[in-house]
Amino acid sequence: MSSRHPLVRVKMHVLLLKEPRDGESGPDPYIKELVSHGHKATLIPVLSFKFVSLNTLSDKLFQPEKHKGLVFTSPRAVEAVKMCLEAEERREEWNSSVKDKWNNKSIYVVGKATGALVRNLGLNPLGEDTGTAEVLSRVIIEREDTNILPLFFPCGSIKREVLPTALRENGVPLETLTVYQTAEHPDLEKNLKNYFTEQGTPVSIAFFSPSGVKFCLEVVRRLSGDHLTQIKLIILLFWTSIGSADAEKLFHNRDHSDVQALSSHQAEVITDTYTAEVYLSRYGFMKPVNWEEIQFEDPHTNFNDDFVDELQATIREGNSVPRSRDTPKDGDRDEHTTQTESEAFVSALTEFQKVSGLPVTGVFDEATKLAMNKPRCGVPDMEIDLNTPAAAASDILSSPTSDSFNETGSNSTAMRRRKRHLAALVSKRRRKRDVGETGYMAFSKKVLRWRLIGEGYSSQLSVEEQRFIFRQAFRMWSEVSPLEFVEDTRSPLEDVDIRLGFGTGRHLGCNQRFDGTGQEFAHAWFLGDIHFDDDEHFTGPNAGSGISLLKVAVHEIGHVLGLPHIYRPGSIMQPSYLPHESGFEMDWMDRKAVQHLYGGCKGRFNTVFDWIRKEKTPYGEVAIRFNTYFVRDGWYWLYENRNNRTRYGDPVALQAGWRGIPVDGVDAHVHVWSRRRDAVYFFKGTQFWRYDGENDVVFRQDPEGRRYPRLISKGFPGVSSPIDTAFYDRRDSHIYFFKNTLVYAFDVEANSLARGFPKNIRDVFPAVASGDHPDGNIDAAYFSYTHNAVFLLKGARFWQVVGSRDRWRRPSLPRNGLLPHKEVHRHWFDICNVHPTALKLTR
Ligand SMILES: [Zn+2]
Ligand SMILES: [Zn+2]
Repeated sequence: MSSRHPLVRVKMHVLLLKEPRDGESGPDPYIKELVSHGHKATLIPVLSFKFVSLNTLSDKLFQPEKHKGLVFTSPRAVEAVKMCLEAEERREEWNSSVKDKWNNKSIYVVGKATGALVRNLGLNPLGEDTGTAEVLSRVIIEREDTNILPLFFPCGSIKREVLPTALRENGVPLETLTVYQTAEHPDLEKNLKNYFTEQGTPVSIAFFSPSGVKFCLEVVRRLSGDHLTQIKLIILLFWTSIGSADAEKLFHNRDHSDVQALSSHQAEVITDTYTAEVYLSRYGFMKPVNWEEIQFEDPHTNFNDDFVDELQATIREGNSVPRSRDTPKDGDRDEHTTQTESEAFVSALTEFQKVSGLPVTGVFDEATKLAMNKPRCGVPDMEIDLNTPAAAASDILSSPTSDSFNETGSNSTAMRRRKRHLAALVSKRRRKRDVGETGYMAFSKKVLRWRLIGEGYSSQLSVEEQRFIFRQAFRMWSEVSPLEFVEDTRSPLEDVDIRLGFGTGRHLGCNQRFDGTGQEFAHAWFLGDIHFDDDEHFTGPNAGSGISLLKVAVHEIGHVLGLPHIYRPGSIMQPSYLPHESGFEMDWMDRKAVQHLYGGCKGRFNTVFDWIRKEKTPYGEVAIRFNTYFVRDGWYWLYENRNNRTRYGDPVALQAGWRGIPVDGVDAHVHVWSRRRDAVYFFKGTQFWRYDGENDVVFRQDPEGRRYPRLISKGFPGVSSPIDTAFYDRRDSHIYFFKNTLVYAFDVEANSLARGFPKNIRDVFPAVASGDHPDGNIDAAYFSYTHNAVFLLKGARFWQVVGSRDRWRRPSLPRNGLLPHKEVHRHWFDICNVHPTALKLTR
């Protein structure tokens, strides 16, 4: 290179830590510029890229009518567009019509390099001279009004907040799509080593991006050793070795969007006992390393200013930029290396292996290394403080399957840490906490408000998608607990109970930093906030790749409600993310855990019944199938008797189960089922409907041509309506109608009341234990095929009717006597209300 300038003496060796210019021919402009000044320059790429979501990108590109225009702040995003056109062989379609449609809209770019690539696509860009995202956003805001159509912004996984935030604040809608992901270049360290071996220590190093500093500085420091002070550490903004005019020129000649990228990087890989120790302390297995450092960082500091300060300090002192909170200064490292041999480390490692289901070796082996590098929740595992519901729950939960639980009692340092953890949370945000009836802290109210906060949207999913997923996640807890959750987008933020947001690195004023892509994906603050690491690839529930946001959200909500980690296969509260099974349900343990804190689900029902269907088997035999249904107002739960729980996703609208019956509920369902008859009726008020099971809709009229609904008094002469409830007793072919304190036995074959009816309920169904009787106004009378027994329900209680088997065992029991009452929720589990706003989410 210097041969082109034979008269200029080589002034210095410059190492450029930057990406080569893609899509441009000729040498890198910086190398060219430096060489022309007689310097010797070498370029080592810092990052590697992977394109993602190209199908989605393609869809959007070919529907220009859905957006107001395009925004590009990096050449890489334009490259993604180019790949879409080429991969799908749609270049022609693009050239003939689509590009012109876009050209009628606005195409914004941040700099010349991006602009040039955009021109290659046949588009006419605006904003090539803006240079920074900030200036570009000002241009956009000036030009765009608050349209209904959003601008479309394909971008990288490293979050660029300046532009989206500025546009959002000014009401300019923007839709972002991550089209490429950024990570440290796999050969970075190798290339750096080679450079230092072959060329020696360079005089200057140019960092072109915060990522460059982040990924390289430590290695550079190590490689240059004593020569470090001889290097003029340089980044572009502090370019001193060439003239200021040149610096200015270079500055404007490049895209600066990545200058905002410091807060994002790859999580530090756990490779040795030192990093393993950091991991074990971070997640509560042993005394923390440098814990104090991360406490109470000022949430209001502007991160970019910070970065410049840090960097300036670095340059002055010739020291390393703190890479993460856990990385100690040089002197500390040695100290810790000796400590890793210590008993504390071995015992923490053993504990980790035990709870992770690994071979318990007490040695930092391959299996342990692998497990530590898996994605996991950021909430510490060991929770000891008995004043917390988390610990309380683990205490209770450990009883049935104690060996699957961590034994926490011995680890006092972990206990201290946990306490500190909680203390920090509590002081940070004083929230109302309560001692529930079970004696543990939990939310004291049943209806909790949540919000996805505006400054914390994910950069990867649309806002609507994020909110929908969160609604589903909250609904899942609602389905198994007495809690109800409602999205609140209006109240002052202080009044919102649970706030959710995405962020990277230092985020959302939180005092626990995120670690970048990999490992920690989210954390939750006790009775408060949930943060998701936006450097992770979060996806929708059916994506099949990435990390399911739904799963992670359900897990973190569990923490907010007070649950600890649960080491049981199938539990949503396991600390590690398990990628398999796209659909998932709440495990038995999860349900019991939350109900331990908040109690079971109670409430009265309109009616309860077994719905019997006859189905032909492939062999022509008739198989009888039935399920139990619980009805409250216009909603029903299907009860799985075999699993003793409600179906996942219930309750659902009554209409979804039976078409044509009253939408706001029914008083009774009766299935007359004998050798000669098979008829299903629904009762409501003074009317009844017959249901056509074959066509799954109510009959319009009866065989005599009388239209449904018919009056109960006409169809069942002698029965006084409206009724409270009814059931059909196969044993005597009678329908028993209940009204106030009376019961009417109706003989189906004779089509009239049985002799002597109506009678007092107490006479037909006498109390077995004196005084223990519902005394009329029964909610539901239910013949259970599963239990082969009749139950009367009223309020939260039920009474089982003495059957022939009971009398065979205990002949003294009165015929049809009512056994002492029990609680409905202790017998039929998880029949839980969800908030009305969440009712329409499923099925
Ligand atoms: Zn967790
Ligand atoms: Zn956080």
